[in-house]
Amino acid sequence: MEFCDLTAQYQAYKEEIDDAMASVIQSSAFINGPEVKALEAELCAFSGAKHAIACANGTDALQVPLLAMGIGPGDEVIVPDFTFYATAEMVALVGATPVFADIDPTTCNVTADTIRPRITPRTKGIIPVSLYGQMPDLEAIESLASQHGIWVMEDGAQSFGASRHGKRSTSATSLATTSFFPAKPLGCYGDGGAIFCSDPDLAAKIRILCNHGQVKRYHHGMVGVNSRLDSLQAAILRVKLRHFEQELLMRDQVAKWYTERLRGLVATPIVSEGNFSAWAQYTIRVQNRDKIQAHLQSKGVPTAVHYPMPMHRQQVFAHLGVQDDACPNATKASTEVMSLPMHAFLNEVQVEEIVAAIREAL
Ligand SMILES: *Cc1c(COP(=O)(O)O)cnc(C)c1O
Repeated sequence: MEFCDLTAQYQAYKEEIDDAMASVIQSSAFINGPEVKALEAELCAFSGAKHAIACANGTDALQVPLLAMGIGPGDEVIVPDFTFYATAEMVALVGATPVFADIDPTTCNVTADTIRPRITPRTKGIIPVSLYGQMPDLEAIESLASQHGIWVMEDGAQSFGASRHGKRSTSATSLATTSFFPAKPLGCYGDGGAIFCSDPDLAAKIRILCNHGQVKRYHHGMVGVNSRLDSLQAAILRVKLRHFEQELLMRDQVAKWYTERLRGLVATPIVSEGNFSAWAQYTIRVQNRDKIQAHLQSKGVPTAVHYPMPMHRQQVFAHLGVQDDACPNATKASTEVMSLPMHAFLNEVQVEEIVAAIREAL
């Protein structure tokens, strides 16, 4: 059994993917070819975002907007204490200080209430993460941000395809990012990412920064980065995007199978009212995680921990001096969370096997 079965997905779309790749190779338009432009338009059509800028990965997708907005030393940016490291890392990389907000214990997402006490006169923005595929209460976070004149950028690396009250992830805030890392809900065959933006001037600046700050060929107006999406990856993503609505429904069905069978046995994920999750992960909470993981492994069921250490405990951020009691829910979650196999091609029989193994382990 696979944790995320990319082979089954390839088999399902093999002909389309092989054709798409062959046509890029024949065209030799490997960088910034027509496939990239077409993908950007399709990402906007899918998510409802105004502008999409494809880039090399979901980490660069966070860094480049920070550069574009001039975030640097002396600035603070609020990020979840409980996230993949890149969210906090990019704030530190541009020289600013990441400030960690605790999470809501039921959704594992930040809320306006956990963010509010972290706002200081130096706060420039907030990067809420749509963890495990579910969007936080971005309306409340946006309204808090606008009271303080600061920006919000959704880190939608795990949530492309999710929605909240009819708005899709990456279009609910004026600035957002995603990742096309292979194991994300919409993944390519290598690294990839995208930035979404409603302001045309900021979008144009981000596009220039992603390409060496080049304003026209060999004329450089800014210090940028080389962060472009390969045409091959764009072509693969365009095929997968055609099947993505269907895959989202399949992932949601898998989650429902899990939740029906695990209810009462372990703490199952809770999807807030008005939300549709992209189910990047199906993550349960357990008390004796090591023992359960070991038993599942002995039964051939792979599991993973997203994430075993909150940001404030990372060695790299020790100098910030944040204690466990500043983020108690994140600290507790890091000891209890355990993700089960999740992908669109998981079937009901496999889910039953996994649940039986969990029942044995308990
Ligand atoms: C995966 C991920 C990233 C980084 O994306 P890459 O494409 O791997 O660089 C950033 N933030 C979150 C929350 C992620 O899950």
